[in-house]
Amino acid sequence: MKSRTPLIAGNWKMHKTGPEAVGSACKLVELTADTAGVETMIAPTFTALSEVAEAIGGSQIRLGAQNLHWETHGAFTGEISGDMLTAAGCQYVIIGHSERRQYFGDTDEIVNKKVTAALSAGLNPILCIGETETQREADETFNILDKQVQKGLEDLSENDLNTLVIAYEPVWAIGTGKTATTEQAQEVHLFVRSLIDKKFGKALAQSLRILYGGSVKPSNVKELMGMPDLDGALVGGASLDPETFSQLVHFQS
Ligand code: PEP
Repeated sequence: MKSRTPLIAGNWKMHKTGPEAVGSACKLVELTADTAGVETMIAPTFTALSEVAEAIGGSQIRLGAQNLHWETHGAFTGEISGDMLTAAGCQYVIIGHSERRQYFGDTDEIVNKKVTAALSAGLNPILCIGETETQREADETFNILDKQVQKGLEDLSENDLNTLVIAYEPVWAIGTGKTATTEQAQEVHLFVRSLIDKKFGKALAQSLRILYGGSVKPSNVKELMGMPDLDGALVGGASLDPETFSQLVHFQS
């Protein structure tokens, strides 16, 4: 029996207008009202955050954002700060998603600044890490993950990290229908936990939640979540339909 409460987090990416997001959120509130022993989070697009916060108010569903800027305010056209997300009702923020790294230039240094900013704003950061297919084939997986963890968490203390979540998302498994095998995922999660142990100590390594992301769906969620070091899932495609996402949230039943 794991002591860490699993987190099932849905990343809605650039899908759903405000009204569409509210419709999905309301449906999800109904479908997940009976859940216990699992935390649920949805991350709609920025423009839907406040409306969705109202729609899920009083339920067990938490609100997350998909990104933030590292500064608190200023001349940064188009950007959103941690305080703005907190004021909109967010408790979580996804940082360093592979799409941000690939298309928007989020380096490990930027990711580190964003993690620091999220913590200062009282948000729980979900730090995404993961190797590409080429890196896996070249046997570079552990080196890449080591670098992403070391740099992403640079200058942070054990105390800073109490609310941090790490999401291991092999880039080759995101939106491709290819899922890491349970053994591949467990091997990496254990490795990441050992990195945290070395850097921050055993207590944090044991309490830290490490999510798996990459084509998680109702047919594979139970098996993945059954692995000892997998503490939840970060879900893209299968989080968009409330019925399907609710099946993931109910993986324990
Ligand atoms: C993701 O984008 O974080 C993700 C895991 O996507 P999908 O579930 O669609 O593979």
